[in-house]
Amino acid sequence: YGPAPEDASGVMQWLDAHGRWFGHYIDGAFTKSSAAKFESKNPATGELLASIAQGEAADVDRAVKAARAALPAWQALTGHQRARYLYAFARQVQKHARKLAVLETLDNGKSIRETRDIDIPLVARHFYYHAGWAQLLGDVTDNGYTGDTDLKGYAPVGVVGQIIPWNFPLLMFAWKVAPALATGNTVVIKPAEFTPLTAMLFAEIADEIGLPKGVLNVVNGDGATGAAIVGHPDVDKIAFTGSTEVGRIIRKATANTTKKLSLELGGKSPFIVFDDADLDSAVEGLVDGIWFNQGQVCCAGSRLLVQESVAERLYDKIRARMETLRIGSPLDKAIDIGAIVDQVQHDRITKLVAMGVAEGATCWQPEIAVPTKGLFFKPTLLTNVHPSSTVAQEEIFGPVLAAMTFRTPAEAVELANNTAYGLAACVWSENVNVALDVAAQMKAGVVWVNATNVFDAAVGFGGYRESGYGREGGVEGLYEYLEPAWVKSEPKMFAS
Ligand code: NAD
Repeated sequence: YGPAPEDASGVMQWLDAHGRWFGHYIDGAFTKSSAAKFESKNPATGELLASIAQGEAADVDRAVKAARAALPAWQALTGHQRARYLYAFARQVQKHARKLAVLETLDNGKSIRETRDIDIPLVARHFYYHAGWAQLLGDVTDNGYTGDTDLKGYAPVGVVGQIIPWNFPLLMFAWKVAPALATGNTVVIKPAEFTPLTAMLFAEIADEIGLPKGVLNVVNGDGATGAAIVGHPDVDKIAFTGSTEVGRIIRKATANTTKKLSLELGGKSPFIVFDDADLDSAVEGLVDGIWFNQGQVCCAGSRLLVQESVAERLYDKIRARMETLRIGSPLDKAIDIGAIVDQVQHDRITKLVAMGVAEGATCWQPEIAVPTKGLFFKPTLLTNVHPSSTVAQEEIFGPVLAAMTFRTPAEAVELANNTAYGLAACVWSENVNVALDVAAQMKAGVVWVNATNVFDAAVGFGGYRESGYGREGGVEGLYEYLEPAWVKSEPKMFAS
């Protein structure tokens, strides 16, 4: 498929230099205290990339203590001083962009085009954006407001526990860490067990920029490690991104505590196409909406709702486009679809597609070459899907599009909102009245019109209902890490 594969030798050397064995980053030091390990593999080849320490309750406790100890000095910095660290992170991410992109591609299986052009640039953008906020917020404990008797402002929440998924490993890391640090909190973060490696490289960057020790702590491990963070009594807030199922567990675990909580969970987002839409654009939108990142995207446009009169025409165009998608080695620069992150996930997708067929859907896959080795799954179109069937209701988290038809805009709205989720939606129509009217009726945290998967650090992202609560990015995202704090003082103008 065209150009030579991306050179991974530099990353391999980095892994070898670490003896292919990583622990945690606690209190400014790399530690490998726990004996238990798990393995991180390249899902495109099955090759072992590194062994990782399984964080235990004692590791979490050390990390929380380090974060607590670092808090007063970090909070005492002015916003401007904190901003300098965030700018330094952004610049170092740009400097190491190629290495981070290759490492992410190896660990996750996503295409190098995506990590190089989307994930890593968005990571840098997130740090630049929040560096700006750190400066604008001033000293968040009094908001820099000195003009009158009442010093109104916001205080950092304190020690924040953060737990992230594997689908955008470093980008989710940035979404969590950048706003928390910008607003004066200290962090204990746990990467997903399938994809811990870019977080380790990022911890090296923290060292490089001289981030004060204890401000950012990374503890590796699985769900048990995550649960230890959630249950730690000295953590003030939990920020979680992951499945709705684990989100529910965390909601229960924190219900009788005073921990602040934000949840970014799953989705089953509608992709609505009206008969007057530019169908070719809509098809390209679907390539981004459901085949980008192998469909392992929380806001993937996984439910196609198409107006009946153009359904067959659209399906023909979709099938023709699917025949041109290239699936293969994620390091190949011309690849559209890489590998699925893990066997567990591959099995889940296979099972759900089979259930869809058993429930009456018609399954179509293109006749394209697929590597015989590695965890690849062909792009898949399911038609004749019943709105109440499993594949219309459950998040598949794979490159599988479930298509349904509607006749009227009202029916489109009803079908679109007929889900427990509410993360994203998109509407395709050349009629601005129809598009905006339908968009306004979507029960979703983000709605795109004639577009999909557009992300910006300046826009708060998050869901309704089973997709969670709280926002990440934008000014809204800052409030997740702040508490209103009202301080009364004597009027300065009369002070002697
Ligand atoms: P997951 O819920 O299985 O795991 C997410 C993280 O939680 C991992 O780090 C895992 O180790 C940890 N974890 C597991 N059990 C835990 C427990 N009991 N207590 C604390 N932590 C625990 O999800 P996943 O499979 O890694 O990610 C896929 C899911 O994430 C999808 O549902 C997707 O929609 C969602 N997601 C949502 C967003 C969003 O912004 N809304 C973004 C990306 C992914």
